[in-house]
Amino acid sequence: MPELPEVETIVRDLRPRLTGRKLSTPHLHRTDVLRRVSRQRLIRTLDRNRIGTVARRAKHVVIGLASGHRLVIQPRMTGSLLVYERRLTAEQRRYAVLDAGIGGGARFVYRDVRRLGTIWLLDERGWQTYTARIGPEPLDDDFDADRFATQMTGTHQAIKKALMDQRRLAGVGNIYANEALFRAGIDPSRPAARLRRTELEWLHHHVREVLEAAIAARGTTVRDYRTGTGQSGSYQDLLQVYGRGGEPCRRCGARLVTTHEIDGRATTFCWRCQGKPR
Ligand SMILES: [Zn+2]
Repeated sequence: MPELPEVETIVRDLRPRLTGRKLSTPHLHRTDVLRRVSRQRLIRTLDRNRIGTVARRAKHVVIGLASGHRLVIQPRMTGSLLVYERRLTAEQRRYAVLDAGIGGGARFVYRDVRRLGTIWLLDERGWQTYTARIGPEPLDDDFDADRFATQMTGTHQAIKKALMDQRRLAGVGNIYANEALFRAGIDPSRPAARLRRTELEWLHHHVREVLEAAIAARGTTVRDYRTGTGQSGSYQDLLQVYGRGGEPCRRCGARLVTTHEIDGRATTFCWRCQGKPR
């Protein structure tokens, strides 16, 4: 599932291609991705509307329209957002869920092979409700260690689960929770409330650092994720633990362990580097 760095990469790729463009002849090929909007209202709102802003919130692409609406697309596992300068080929059209002209013969396309993604169309009030349910953005300038500590404490959930809880923190999923905990040397199963202040500060630092490094590498492509220009990311080459169960720890050489016992997802860690509290 694309997490913060992947969606940020898509948004940075799309922004110069979409900002200021006027949408025309929108086509919705599938309706099962729609949330709280009918096909008719979506098409009517998009047609001849102008794109003002292209932004990210958590793991969602947020397209601000001149009408004041926001088109929110969450690409999830198999979705991709692309701009095609030419007519779509049959293959490109095959998994298109939504597409719209953006002038000059180019089209903006949301493709989704398995259609696990979602499309929301929100007015200002709907957006305020939507965004209020999501925790703070970890890369915001004012997201300091104090703020992070406030979000993470007060729960006996495992720290890994707390990191991935979108109401506590925006945009971190399984890949970067695993990576940040390894970098910080913290056992993913420890109750969040038991972390010491110094450990929280260390983790805050590493969450931000790993997200920034992954953005610089244009995200992690394990399976389906593609950037906004249709390419693979490259952070998969830099992963320390995620997907490396059974392989040697890059820091100490011990065999990395994978467990599903913390949150049902694959958690990979080094029992030696993350074994005991520091
Ligand atoms: Zn190790």
